[in-house]
Amino acid sequence: MLNIAEALKLVLDHATPLPAVPTPLGDARGRVLAESIVSDIDSPPHDKSIVDGYAVIAADTADLPTELTILEEITAGAVPTRTVDPGWATRIMTGAPVPPGADAIVMVEQTELAGEHVRIVGRSAKTGQNIVRRGASLTRGQTVLQTGKLIRPIELGLLAEVGRTTVSAIATPKVAVLVTGNELVAPSETPGPGQIRNSNSSLLCGLAEQASGGDVSNLGIARDNTAELERAIHAGLSHDVLILSGGVSAGVLDLVPKVLTQLGVAEVFHKVNLKPGKPLWFGVCRHTPNNQTLVFGLPGNPVSSLVCFELFVRPAIQMLRGLPPTGLRQAAAKLTCDHQQRGERPTYWPSSVNGETVTPLSWKGSGDLRSLTDANCLALFPAEERIFHAGEVISVLLLEA
Ligand code: AMP
Ligand code: MG
Repeated sequence: MLNIAEALKLVLDHATPLPAVPTPLGDARGRVLAESIVSDIDSPPHDKSIVDGYAVIAADTADLPTELTILEEITAGAVPTRTVDPGWATRIMTGAPVPPGADAIVMVEQTELAGEHVRIVGRSAKTGQNIVRRGASLTRGQTVLQTGKLIRPIELGLLAEVGRTTVSAIATPKVAVLVTGNELVAPSETPGPGQIRNSNSSLLCGLAEQASGGDVSNLGIARDNTAELERAIHAGLSHDVLILSGGVSAGVLDLVPKVLTQLGVAEVFHKVNLKPGKPLWFGVCRHTPNNQTLVFGLPGNPVSSLVCFELFVRPAIQMLRGLPPTGLRQAAAKLTCDHQQRGERPTYWPSSVNGETVTPLSWKGSGDLRSLTDANCLALFPAEERIFHAGEVISVLLLEA
């Protein structure tokens, strides 16, 4: 059986960044830039005042207090019309252009208004004080963002500053979620004998939206029969990623791998040495040389589905988005209590990390989503039959909100 690292490598070997598309600024957050961005302006566009106050000649303030005559007032957006000569000052607001002749701005708090004059009190001005020079933050022709940069709100602001309303960015992956099982009923229904509510559509759509940064197609429930599975999976194969839940184990109605193969999805692996999540199935459906669907058959138990999603699906989606396929953030933390690890499979255990320490939760197995609501991480216990002692440092995957 493959180990986790081998399985992840096979997944990533089949995942490549999606093509770049022209993207309006309003849709660009969370995408990866596919071009370098060059500024069409200097910023600031003029020597500007960074305070409300008076533009002066610094030498005029050598001996304080002193009085200067007010020439004019410049607010942000206005342009100075007068040169500041010795003995004169221009009232100026934050962001406004510094008038010719002036070489310092005195904050309004260090002045007193006296009719047409301003009295400078406090400290003598130094040349250049409270002035930011034209082009100090960026200049026309400068490359301000490089290809491959993740567009966060900060980058949206900068793109707007340099006049870009559309950018070339990697497309958002189209992801579909299809759950399988005769026992499933909609959350709105009261389960009858033998039935349970479908929690995985909500869980996996939420995870996929969080990871892809886009809308996710919820394909609902397919029953455990070949015809229905074929129909539903066929619809799912028009996406970049198809996430299935259930039907990949060894039960008599676990038909998903067979149906996937029949529909032309080439199996890459089935089963990973992992707990929970061992029955994971992964394959690829090639439509054209540069267009394919990555297909993940996750085990139906909700916690198994979550663990497989975090270990394999999230990194694949990151890769398609042009991001480093690092998955969830990892950390090291000290166990607060002893923990018995059983068996030969590495185990991801729902846990609660608090600063430097981690507490494994009382967890009743892969169907126990309730306990998982108290978790903010998955703690990794390597395959060993032993007690991990309080104080031992282990590795954890930090779940995203
Ligand atoms: P399976 O992988 O199909 O053998 O399912 C394993 C377990 O997960 C069974 O107990 C299923 O009832 C449960 N299960 C399967 N699909 C879902 C789902 N969509 N929501 C909640 N539990 C599920
Ligand atoms: Mg099933």
